[in-house]
Amino acid sequence: MLSEYRVKRRPDRSGEPAEAHAPRNGPGDPETRFVIQRHAASGLHFDFRLEIDGVLVSWAVPKGPSTDSAEKRLATRTEDHPLAYLDFEGRIPAGQYGHGTVVVWDTGTFANLSDEDLVSGLHRGHLKFWLDGERLSGAYALTQIRTRGGDQNWLLVKVDDETVDPHSDLAHTGLESVLTGRTRRNL
Ligand code: MN
Repeated sequence: MLSEYRVKRRPDRSGEPAEAHAPRNGPGDPETRFVIQRHAASGLHFDFRLEIDGVLVSWAVPKGPSTDSAEKRLATRTEDHPLAYLDFEGRIPAGQYGHGTVVVWDTGTFANLSDEDLVSGLHRGHLKFWLDGERLSGAYALTQIRTRGGDQNWLLVKVDDETVDPHSDLAHTGLESVLTGRTRRNL
């Protein structure tokens, strides 16, 4: 559902994609895509987006993903974004929603590792998937935590597999776009 995305934005002013004009995956194309955008807005965060059912289901992760399975990263669900957002980067001008810089920090495809389909997992509040990106690869899980403040909070955790690396600090060391090599300074 993109209605919340549309309500919050003036794409003619923000430079962001207006509609879901990117083709959705057909039945013969099982690959689903993801993107992680480093968004330096009022607060720095990473926007983690998974292609599910024709939109990019999205979470804001303040600390970014970790490659250490002992780290739990808060991931707050935000509004679905159009598929055209997969390769969006740029400067969102002052006065527009999300004002700041957006760099594609990672992108690639992901595979569902759960017995449930992605839509059911999303409703149930648990997703487990394999990321095949430029920076991240391996299994991750997103689990909804229901608190008094609502049900928008999830935890993003690296699944303990052979791709774990407790010593890597990717979220702090990787600043360049994996698409263009640009950083927020030279967008
Ligand atoms: Mn954001």
